[in-house]
Amino acid sequence: QANERESMYLVSEFAQKHFKEMLWDTELGKAIGLSYFKERGFTDETIKKFELGYCLDQWDGFTVAALDMGYKLEYLEKTGLTIVKEDRDNPNTSRKFDRFKGRVMFPIHSLSGRVLGFGGRILTNDKKAAKYLNSPESDIYHKSKVLYGIYHAKQAIAKEDNCYLVEGYTDVIQFAQKGIQNVVSSSGTALTPEQIRLINRLTKNITVLFDGDAAGLRASIRGIDLILEQGMNVRICTFPEGEDPDSFAKHNELEEVQAYLESNAKDFIQFKASLLVKEASNDPIKRADTVRDIVNSIAKIPDRIKKEIYIQECASIMNVSEAVLFNTLAQIDKKGE
Ligand code: ATP
Ligand code: MN
Ligand code: MN
Ligand code: MN
Repeated sequence: QANERESMYLVSEFAQKHFKEMLWDTELGKAIGLSYFKERGFTDETIKKFELGYCLDQWDGFTVAALDMGYKLEYLEKTGLTIVKEDRDNPNTSRKFDRFKGRVMFPIHSLSGRVLGFGGRILTNDKKAAKYLNSPESDIYHKSKVLYGIYHAKQAIAKEDNCYLVEGYTDVIQFAQKGIQNVVSSSGTALTPEQIRLINRLTKNITVLFDGDAAGLRASIRGIDLILEQGMNVRICTFPEGEDPDSFAKHNELEEVQAYLESNAKDFIQFKASLLVKEASNDPIKRADTVRDIVNSIAKIPDRIKKEIYIQECASIMNVSEAVLFNTLAQIDKKGE
């Protein structure tokens, strides 16, 4: 089993090197992949640092290269780099395809820097195809335990004693290039306790940065209770409509990005309370629900003193008495026992 995993690591490392070579050393790679990254504002240094690559738009270019080098089909399939399908025209024979055909490649590293899997982005604006495609879950790539960028960010997270959590690959890369290195991404999936634990070992402070599209905001806010449960301090910052950390950092100087974060990052509980109040307006039933909702979040905080301070804060934000909130908290605590 350990040997199998090692073989999967090795083929992933080969893939990363292969995709990098296709990006830098082929005419198509340069014309399509490299110019795509340049258009996004990434420098050569950044592209190299994050080991970005390109998978040629051929059916099996990568797979053939890997097999030629002696890597076994079994591990190409187990890592999901190659898709093997029964050939409908010729029974008992199969055909092999490159999963990431025609995509620019973002290798996903473990905390110690090993390649576990990939994210691949299409270059066209074809709405039918998935914009990003990821490696499947495997014996070396456990999506719920990995954070994109953690290998490059870990020192800065500890040094700054804060971690920025963003939505996508390019947000991590653009921020790092701008000079904000303490940034990781859950890459579009809901945050898990294991991912939070990874950060928790480096800092107790998380600042969650949301794309300015509001679509995912409500759903994502639920996941943040998991961070509170681990006793961490959470701040939230949203971006202007249509912007995400990538586009914002691309079009602004470091000082402006820092100033924006400084003045827009709000304490999570205060942010949530304000948001809920706005949404409920004067509807009494909705207001009752929002009281329960905010107290549910507060109940997750392990520290008793912080709990009490948040109750006071939220009573004032939501214009209800502290007693109501304390009673609700007591009910929730009772249910939890
Ligand atoms: P880009 O700037 O390259 O268009 P993004 O990172 O801003 O992409 P979002 O739409 O904000 O993309 O999504 C955030 C993250 O969610 C992506 O970086 C990716 O990890 C994941 N994601 C987005 N679309 C898909 C998809 N169709 N399939 C799988 N994952 C996706
Ligand atoms: Mn988004
Ligand atoms: Mn985005
Ligand atoms: Mn984006």
